[in-house]
Amino acid sequence: MKVVLGIESTAHTFGVGIASLDGNFLVDYSDQFIPPSGGIHPREASEHHSKVAPHLIEMAISEIKKRKFELVGIGFSRGPGLGPCLRVGATVARAIATYLDIPLFGIHHGIAHIEIGKKLTGAKDPLILLVSGGHTMITALEKHRYRVFGETLDISIGNLIDMFMRSAGYPSPAGHICEKLASETNEMVELPYIVKGTDMSFSGILTAARKYLKNGVPINVICRSLQEFSFAMLSEVTERALAHTKKRELLVVGGVAANKRLREMLSYVAKEHEAALLVSKKWNGDNGAMIAWTTALAYKYDNPLDVDKSYVIPLWRIDEVFVPWQ
Ligand code: AMP
Ligand code: MG
Repeated sequence: MKVVLGIESTAHTFGVGIASLDGNFLVDYSDQFIPPSGGIHPREASEHHSKVAPHLIEMAISEIKKRKFELVGIGFSRGPGLGPCLRVGATVARAIATYLDIPLFGIHHGIAHIEIGKKLTGAKDPLILLVSGGHTMITALEKHRYRVFGETLDISIGNLIDMFMRSAGYPSPAGHICEKLASETNEMVELPYIVKGTDMSFSGILTAARKYLKNGVPINVICRSLQEFSFAMLSEVTERALAHTKKRELLVVGGVAANKRLREMLSYVAKEHEAALLVSKKWNGDNGAMIAWTTALAYKYDNPLDVDKSYVIPLWRIDEVFVPWQ
């Protein structure tokens, strides 16, 4: 069986996935960098990735050998992400591609989140809400490009949650803890609600939430308010895009898609516009399998990269990428 290998290393996770060209997932190994305190320091995370990469790659390669697969291509997360982290994945991928003389593919991390979501939910032509540590955007594929209908003007929704939770002493990522605390109360405080056109700003919520924390407002009340305000902003922009595009599917991808309250709010929006709400049960957070699957698509439909032009692109916008497979 012909398979491709995908390497994820944009931020906290170093992941290695193997997918067959027809979309069977065979291997997904990953190791996450947990910062000792504070946020992700790019150099520390990249040192983590360099340390775990050899072992994870070795496990994947020996699986390929043991099961007598034929490795025909290799892909890596080319961006967007933290430069030092991206370069670890890129270096490993280049080395394997050169050594085995197989084609190399540079994969857009956001597109990989979307493509695996489509694959796992069976979505055909969805409006997509991509909510993660690195992305907050509403997008849909049109004429071979993911067009952006709305996005954050400053920090991502995942950053808002994690940065606030860090102020309260919870190490990142802490979205699941925020969700749990929020579910413990019905009380709320007022936070800024900032939607400009179809774009959103979350940094004002962070500042205000930190102020409440300093002034002794209980953490669960702030968590609930933060979720209600930020998720309502996401829902508003999603609703406008649904009304405009008339898509019949709303696909939610990225780590924050795990949040039940966000899904609940979006289910009202989807119902109002007769769209199906689609959320995958797994691989919402960063992983190697999503890079492997998108590499399989690229292998079939796209041109490989020249190894000497395979530099990473830390600020790669999703709408810059030509998508040949749909
Ligand atoms: P990703 O960048 O796609 O790996 O997603 C990671 C982000 O998802 C982090 O900011 C997490 O805090 C966030 N996250 C994970 N689970 C949840 C949850 N249940 N509620 C809110 N955010 C979450
Ligand atoms: Mg991600």
